[in-house]
This record gives sequence, C-alpha cells and structure tokens, in this order.
Amino acid sequence: MYVEIVLGPLPVRYYPRSGALGKGDLLPGQDEGREQSLVRSDRLRRIVMPLPSGRSYRLFLHWSDGTDLEDLDRRIAEGESCERAFDGALAGGDMDLRCRTCGTDFLAVVADAGTPLLGDIANRLREHEFVDACPVCGAGWQPHVMHAVEAA
Ligand SMILES: [Zn+2]
Repeated sequence: MYVEIVLGPLPVRYYPRSGALGKGDLLPGQDEGREQSLVRSDRLRRIVMPLPSGRSYRLFLHWSDGTDLEDLDRRIAEGESCERAFDGALAGGDMDLRCRTCGTDFLAVVADAGTPLLGDIANRLREHEFVDACPVCGAGWQPHVMHAVEAA
C-alpha cells in the first residue's frame, strides 16, 4: 500500500513502513524478500517515481536527523503536507556490499546524488550521518553508505 505525494517536481508513491508490499508494488526484476527487508527499516522509506518513458524508478529515502518516520507515515496518510519533513532526507539505491576486510556481506543503501526529487544535495550530503565503517569489524569502507544490514 502506498500514498501518492508530490516530492520536488514529481508525484511519487510513498510507502509507509506498515504497508505490506504486494506483487503490484514490485518493479520488474525486484526480489520481494529484499524489498521487504529494506521497507522494514525505521530510517528508510521506499519511493517509486514514474518516469516519462512509462517505466518506474524505485529509490529509498534515508533520514539521519531523527525525523520521526512513524509520525510522518501517519501525517501523510491523513493527507497533511509534509514537505519540511523531507529536508533531512537523502535518496539512494540498494546494493550488495562486501566488506573487504572481514568478508561480511551486507545489503546496503548508498546515497545517489543524481535524483531530481530533492534539492540542495551538497548540503544534504554534508549534513547526513553515514555508516562510515563496517558494523562487524569496524574497518572503513566506501563513502555514502546510509544503511547496511548483514545479508541473510
Ligand atoms: Zn568488516
């Protein structure tokens, strides 16, 4: 279940945390288990953006500034305009990430500065708190990792 909202210049589908993903919510090639695992995070929200080509693009918004996303879900469901709540969000995509030091596999979401949905990307990147090190061994890894959970 999603709610249609306007983000920046575009109408997008916003998936609240509690909304189970149905088959119709998955895009071609997406793995249901992987999507569900990301949707359950309390710092991420899934967004699907329609493209002019008729296809859709899925991304995740991540907050590190303490924004109460359960509250945001509720306000969006009630039709409130919540633009300010997105001030602390950064958009990104999922990827498989293996720590080069300890070899642990993660499902990660890494910031993508290229999306048109959120303005002022330079500031957002500067202010965001990232997962700078592997949660298992503490070794530094690639920049701009926003979310990382051990792969099942
Ligand atoms: Zn590691």
